[in-house]
Amino acid sequence: MKPDEFRRQAHELVEWMASYMENVESYPVKSQSAPGEIFKKLPGSPPDNPEPFESLMKDFSDIIMPGITHWQHPSFFAYFPANSSPPSVLAEMLISTLASQCMIWETSPAAAELEQKMMMWLGEMIGLPPVFEGVIQDTASTATLAAILTAREKSTGFCFNSDGESAAGKLRVYCSGQTHSSVEKAVRIAGIGKKNLVRIGVMDDFSMDPLKLESAITRDREMGYVPCCVIATIGTTGTTAIDPLDDIGHICRQHGIFLHVDAAMAGTALILPEFRWMLGEKTYFDSFVFNPHKWMFTNFDCSAYFVRDAASLIRTFEILPEYLKTRTRGLVNDYRDWGVPLGRRFRALKLWFVIRSYGVKGLQEKVRLHIKLASGLAERISVESDFELLAPAVLSVVCFRYNPGGISEDGLNRMNEALNHKLNDSGKIYLTHTVLNGKYALRMVTAQTNVAPHHVDAAWELIKSGARSLQAL
Ligand SMILES: *Cc1c(COP(=O)(O)O)cnc(C)c1O
Repeated sequence: MKPDEFRRQAHELVEWMASYMENVESYPVKSQSAPGEIFKKLPGSPPDNPEPFESLMKDFSDIIMPGITHWQHPSFFAYFPANSSPPSVLAEMLISTLASQCMIWETSPAAAELEQKMMMWLGEMIGLPPVFEGVIQDTASTATLAAILTAREKSTGFCFNSDGESAAGKLRVYCSGQTHSSVEKAVRIAGIGKKNLVRIGVMDDFSMDPLKLESAITRDREMGYVPCCVIATIGTTGTTAIDPLDDIGHICRQHGIFLHVDAAMAGTALILPEFRWMLGEKTYFDSFVFNPHKWMFTNFDCSAYFVRDAASLIRTFEILPEYLKTRTRGLVNDYRDWGVPLGRRFRALKLWFVIRSYGVKGLQEKVRLHIKLASGLAERISVESDFELLAPAVLSVVCFRYNPGGISEDGLNRMNEALNHKLNDSGKIYLTHTVLNGKYALRMVTAQTNVAPHHVDAAWELIKSGARSLQAL
């Protein structure tokens, strides 16, 4: 493709992008595509000869678009959001045009230094003490893996990396039963073993019970285990429960255990002074992750990982082959030493564009609205006699179910599952579910970039009428 043709096609594409943003609500929010449907429409072999861009775009519209679930649809209430925003998309255009591979400072000094500055901005925005240094990771899963590997190295005198499993002894990692699955994955990858991940019981609000944590640690010590890491969550995936960080931090300090905080979704709410309490007063934790690619309007991927002691992180990951030796080593941040992959995208540019375009106040306004939408919805649910809330709505997630009375727990579970499918098949809204104390819960997240009160109103009407027209199964 010659530059002239690129220019022409790119202009058209921008038109397409802008009208997509304007018209995203006209698509079914959840793709209505059947398994294998898209695959069958694609040719079995690649083309031998070049094809014009027009035919690529035609197939994109005809074949690909029907198989897309529209995460930027304001009635996307499923999972947690993967929010984008126009400034973030514009930054991505520049990032892919430069196509820099930002593994070390030398391979693009601006990327490294902007990243350093953006992490300072973010740290200040969410109220972390300035001792924390940050690095952008692809996902929270990777950041949590980095945390667990660092904890593993610290508790084995940095010997696991060199000696392998024999250095490990009997390491133990602790998290609550509500913790994200990425923790178990990381524990497995780290060679600590799934059976050494101890699930601590939760309290009524689904947050970790610190008394149970303490007794598990004490018991393990007595049995010769080495407690190595605790993962606390601010904003669990099921219900956005908030683990008591000060109590947990205190226990970790006493026992010399690395504490990692997973705030993948809820970390963004820390930009609101009225939600700073979630962080606790003592900030006894060692590392902290949150995803601007969830709730801070910075499109996937961009995960902000902060550590109290960058030297330990670097010591865990650093490796220096001849071809990566530079004159600037030690003077600058070479972020390849701060995590798993060598290659890195220029993600800091997205943050810079987003934060400057909205301003902290603009971001706060949006997040505040999202939280208000959730609490308003929870209030409306609580006054309907045939619906019930299944968890407190602290942030932007509401967990509830339809319960018209006189139906067994099993029957209610089947009924609410059927309701969930019926709503999603309508193409008008998209909700996912969780199970809380054995109860199937509809889980509605009111945090899409462009969600407005009328979207939540319409969804609630649809849910009520959908539920009330269900036959008991
Ligand atoms: C979404 C989520 C994750 C995983 O995030 P990725 O960036 O997709 O790896 C981890 N923990 C919590 C609490 C989450 O909500």
